[in-house]
Amino acid sequence: MTKWVYSFSEGAAEGSAAMKELLGGKGAHLAEMCSLGLPVPPGFTITTDVCAFFNAHGRDFPPGLKAEVETALAKIGKVAGHSFDDPDWPLLVSVRSGARASMPGMMDTVLNLGLNDATVGSLARKSGDERFAWDCYRRFIEMYSSVVLGAPHDAFEEALDAYKEKNGAAYDSDLSADDWRVLVEQYKTVVATETGGAFPQDPREQLWGAIKAVFASWMNNRAAIYRHLHNIPEHWGTAVNVQAMVFGNMGDTSATGVAFSRSPSTGARELYGEFLVNAQGEDVVAGLRTPQPLIEAARTKGPPEGLSMETAMPAAFAEFSGYVARLEAHFRDMQDMEFTIERGKLWMLQTRAGKRTATAALKIAVDMADEGLITRDEALLRIDPLSLDQLLHPTLDPDAKCAVLCTGLPASPGAAAGEIVFHSEEAESLAALGRKVILVRIETSPEDIGGMHAAEGILTARGGMTSHAAVVARGMGKPCVSGAGVLRIDYEDHSFTVAGKRFARGDVITVDGTTGHVIAGEVKMRRPELTGEFAVLMDWADKARRMEVRANAETPADARAARRFGAQGIGLARTEHMFFEGERIVAVREMILADDAPGRKAALAKLLPMQRADFRELFEIMSGLPVTIRLLDPPLHEFLPHSDAEIAAVANVMGADPAKLRKRAQELAEFNPMLGFRGVRLAVAFPEIVDMQARAIFEAAIEAAAATGAPTQLEIMAPLVFCRAELDLVKARVDETSKAVEAETGLRPAYHIGTMIELPRAALRAGDIAGTAEFLSFGTNDLTQTTLGISRDDSGSFLGIYTEKGILPFDPFVSIDQEGVGELISLGCARARATRPDIKLGVCGEHGGDPESVAFFDRVGIDYVSCSPFRAPIARLAAAQAALRNALQTPPGRSADATA
Ligand code: ADP
Ligand code: MG
Ligand code: MG
Repeated sequence: MTKWVYSFSEGAAEGSAAMKELLGGKGAHLAEMCSLGLPVPPGFTITTDVCAFFNAHGRDFPPGLKAEVETALAKIGKVAGHSFDDPDWPLLVSVRSGARASMPGMMDTVLNLGLNDATVGSLARKSGDERFAWDCYRRFIEMYSSVVLGAPHDAFEEALDAYKEKNGAAYDSDLSADDWRVLVEQYKTVVATETGGAFPQDPREQLWGAIKAVFASWMNNRAAIYRHLHNIPEHWGTAVNVQAMVFGNMGDTSATGVAFSRSPSTGARELYGEFLVNAQGEDVVAGLRTPQPLIEAARTKGPPEGLSMETAMPAAFAEFSGYVARLEAHFRDMQDMEFTIERGKLWMLQTRAGKRTATAALKIAVDMADEGLITRDEALLRIDPLSLDQLLHPTLDPDAKCAVLCTGLPASPGAAAGEIVFHSEEAESLAALGRKVILVRIETSPEDIGGMHAAEGILTARGGMTSHAAVVARGMGKPCVSGAGVLRIDYEDHSFTVAGKRFARGDVITVDGTTGHVIAGEVKMRRPELTGEFAVLMDWADKARRMEVRANAETPADARAARRFGAQGIGLARTEHMFFEGERIVAVREMILADDAPGRKAALAKLLPMQRADFRELFEIMSGLPVTIRLLDPPLHEFLPHSDAEIAAVANVMGADPAKLRKRAQELAEFNPMLGFRGVRLAVAFPEIVDMQARAIFEAAIEAAAATGAPTQLEIMAPLVFCRAELDLVKARVDETSKAVEAETGLRPAYHIGTMIELPRAALRAGDIAGTAEFLSFGTNDLTQTTLGISRDDSGSFLGIYTEKGILPFDPFVSIDQEGVGELISLGCARARATRPDIKLGVCGEHGGDPESVAFFDRVGIDYVSCSPFRAPIARLAAAQAALRNALQTPPGRSADATA
């Protein structure tokens, strides 16, 4: 028989941390904390299997669940010393969702469940605190009605605000028991008008209503968006946790808080978090009152914000600090915890691996490895390679002059500039048009996920370091400033005022999530230094990986970036950009439109010195490292003059008739340039181009070697080859040019000849091609286009539909199609190696920076990947992870060294 319910209480639990799939993260960790002997209010977890059953059976529960819940409820009663039915002292519970992966804010929790018109009085008597009892009841009505009954949350907020306004109360804490009593009546009226029914008084009806709502919320819209953004499969489902309430709102010796065992922002090894005295649950993150810091050191850093927990509640703080250390050591990771203090007694309500910025993730992984808590390999495997992208985010140029409008909390590091928008839908629609926006909200809620994702940065007027905006922004790696309390936001007017200035929708501001600054206009930014833990982890990654990482670069700036980001050479230098600039394009056009070889040679002679100078600079920057130069590749089409002015300019240089030139240009225009007169076909038709490029390369290499004292490792590569004969022709011209240069200078720079594999036929014929090629570089962008028959530039209109319908699980231009394109690659590798065992095999294309693809390339034995310079760190880490993982999967009997 299936067991649907797992109980837990201090010192004993039926579940454990290993049972996340069944119990969800929250339930599994509550069970584990119980087993560790930590003070956790008793409760039980209804499994994710029930969620699956519920969704598969038209929202019905499995038989036997009711009985199991009753038994578990009775167990809570036994531990707590009073029961769910007790009219004199009702046992109140929370009903909490909890999926396998943490989904902050996605599912709503209902607190204080079990209260009704009768038991609110008994709770008041039993606690000796009437205000507390009515505070709980009004919270319960509000939460239950919005989460379970679907009444709009705002309706209750409005009633509360109106009441406070009328009675001159600034804060909720100014309201008395009698005030809450009146408000409870008003709330019940709201429920009646909004839902057409009375607020349910029967605790069991309340309980099952809440359980149902949590399971149903798995399928709601915002949960679906979050799942989509984070690749969480729908079939996982959520568990439901029912747990005895403990109360942080029982006066000044009570409190509730959230804590991280290390800073989720910087990774610093210090207790980080906030708490609120006399408050419950979500108050800390809702940003209604500004929470106080946990440690005294954090308090003295900022403006006076009331006492820290360390000072105000030293005993509870000491006990809590001890648990934090134990939990971190036990789970061997940074923990994110929730706790409540009820009249001086500490209760632990949640622990999980904390979300963190990429900076913090790096520091924590490196520190923990240094502390001996984890191994270096584990440290490497813990960092999501794509998250490194966040570290490559710009920061404000410290020398830039800027007018700081106000300072909020530095909630998520990095800086961003953009147009102000106040609504998430608008953020999404503008971002879709390619505009950069900053989402400005009083506070954010789960409905804003899409808008936050679309925005460059987020600014809120309310909320602390653990507010919804802060947590979600850190997870997304978006700069965020929260709690900028002086902003006066007017949603209706689409504007805010600060420091006496009005900023309207569309005005540009800059937010700096590292300092909390909000600045008018766009501030100059600069790239971050890649030192400290970043350098340490990259060093470990470089030692762990088998594959080399190179960069695709041709400009001096990109080449310098490639070196800075640790690329071990250039895997793809495209030569055509050198052809498009300024006066060069005229010479290129002259070459294309020339009638004969002498005409072309005359034009090419003009290009030679320019190309040589470009190469020389590139070689000097890359001194000592390999540089792979691709011969001219783009369709001739792209160079053709179109306007009359362009044609006249070329005609003038050539002394030719413009009409004749126009005709020639028309002849060269193509229907499908991607499959047209391009790549090695240019070299076959106009071998003079190869001569010129090879000469420029050799002469530049000689000059660079003389200047730097180190020879360039030259690799010359032909694009879009489909058979060996094409390459043979290129090789013959290059070899001949080399001899000519040697005859003139007495010097002969070493070089290798290779080709790109971008066509299915080339992959199939790799064995043959390897007879000439000393290296092959799989150009996976074009190989994907030609294998799938999909033009990347035209894929926008239908590829999305393919991924939505699940026909393609992902965009094949982002992550390599392992079954199709991948098979061509592994087949090409095998055939090439059969001919030439020491052939060098590389990949150049966007896929070189995609961790999934990198892992695949490692498996099929690719020697190096080449990606854009900024993705080189991602590729270095991904290659290390691939080597570690692929080594682990080595079947027994084979040494891991064979693959590593
Ligand atoms: P989330 O996943 O959004 O964090 P939780 O289920 O953790 O939702 O609960 C929301 C808030 O309610 C948290 O602050 C939590 O600590 C608090 N809470 C949950 N259960 C209890 C309980 N039994 N007693 C007191 N507070 C609780
Ligand atoms: Mg929540
Ligand atoms: Mg929680």
